[in-house]
Amino acid sequence: MVIQVTFLGTGSALPSRGAANCAYLIRAGAATILIDCGPSILQQLDAVAVSPGEITHVFVTHRHGDHALGYPMLALWWALKLPRDGPLPAVIASATTWISLDALISHSYGDAHVASRAGQVQRIVLPTEQSAETPINPAIMLRTWPMKHGDWAPVLGGRFEIIDGETSSGRQVKARVVTLAFTGDTESTENVLLLAQNADLLVHDAGLSASLTPDLKMGAHGHSTAEAAAELAQRAGARHLALVHLEGENVDAGHTVVYLAEASRAFDGLVSAPAAGLTLRF
Ligand SMILES: [Zn+2]
Ligand SMILES: [Zn+2]
Repeated sequence: MVIQVTFLGTGSALPSRGAANCAYLIRAGAATILIDCGPSILQQLDAVAVSPGEITHVFVTHRHGDHALGYPMLALWWALKLPRDGPLPAVIASATTWISLDALISHSYGDAHVASRAGQVQRIVLPTEQSAETPINPAIMLRTWPMKHGDWAPVLGGRFEIIDGETSSGRQVKARVVTLAFTGDTESTENVLLLAQNADLLVHDAGLSASLTPDLKMGAHGHSTAEAAAELAQRAGARHLALVHLEGENVDAGHTVVYLAEASRAFDGLVSAPAAGLTLRF
């Protein structure tokens, strides 16, 4: 099975010039899973030539606008472009995030044809403050844990465990598990050790840099430093640490290398700060 992660955007809430908010696409077999949907999600999908109609699952980590404001635009697309009786994706979010997703629809596309279509998605409501297991399909399990981001917009980090097996005469002869972990926005939290245990890829909030702002060494305002992300990635045994949500002003000032160097000092694996459009194969 081809397993791919495409970075649709990796910017902070107010991103660097020309950048877009954080969103990712996992493609694995029949599943196409969108993680987060900020205000320009339709343009971000279009930029990598993916139709919203290909999406089978949407996972929204939390209700801040840079991660959720595009939800009504997805609903509008489903209402106008999908056959009326065609299948809609499953939408997965915490009970708290769902309050905002529903409100966003009613405040922006409350028109009957959009609102009723949005009401037809397969709603998967996860506990906000506890871990949970959500089977995506027989080959993919989503495990979620609460991250640490603030009271109003609690975050669920998502760990996707994908079993890639080959069968011969109905028997499974070869199988591997590919593990992809996404923190969403978070300060440094020990739950990342569970989220990212032996992960092939850990996409971690690095809104801050311990080198650029040493007084915020352990993270603050709901975001992590690159250094703290790297320390957790090291302890969790992750193979690749992708730093995202870097402060837009720092990226504009050419400081991305500072984040990368800081993380590389604390993590033995591969460190990157992916730009939108990058696709990784597993
Ligand atoms: Zn954010
Ligand atoms: Zn946030």
